[in-house]
Amino acid sequence: MADCIFCKIAQKEIPSNLVYEDDQVVAFKDLEPQAPVHVLIIPKKHVESVLAFTKEDKDLAAHILVDVIPQLARELGVDEKGFRVVTNTGDEGGQSVKHLHFHLLGGRSLQWPPG
Ligand code: 5GP
Ligand code: ZN
Repeated sequence: MADCIFCKIAQKEIPSNLVYEDDQVVAFKDLEPQAPVHVLIIPKKHVESVLAFTKEDKDLAAHILVDVIPQLARELGVDEKGFRVVTNTGDEGGQSVKHLHFHLLGGRSLQWPPG
């Protein structure tokens, strides 16, 4: 999608610190990390948020949750102590980039509830 920063990262039109890539998904380090481990996992295709998923996206959604996130958690060394997966959605959810992304945060003790 034109003018979508995460589409441009997925297409490598702008640089990022990629930590994972396959045919459907990329993951890269957040520009402003909120924890020692903070990566963003995104579908390569433009999907605005979880609300924009369709039935055709079931395999993609499952791939992200079943394959990519657990693999990355292990590779990034946060699987044993724990980590958090967050997808901010909409204005009150704090979504600033309108291309679906899952934050994977870890490497420190995370507080609850979020602010
Ligand atoms: P949101 O606020 O939408 O849940 O999260 C957007 C995240 O994207 C923020 O944590 C922000 O730091 C990150 N971000 C925004 N622009 C860029 C960028 O150009 N590169 C990278 N690596 N992260 C970005
Ligand atoms: Zn996009």
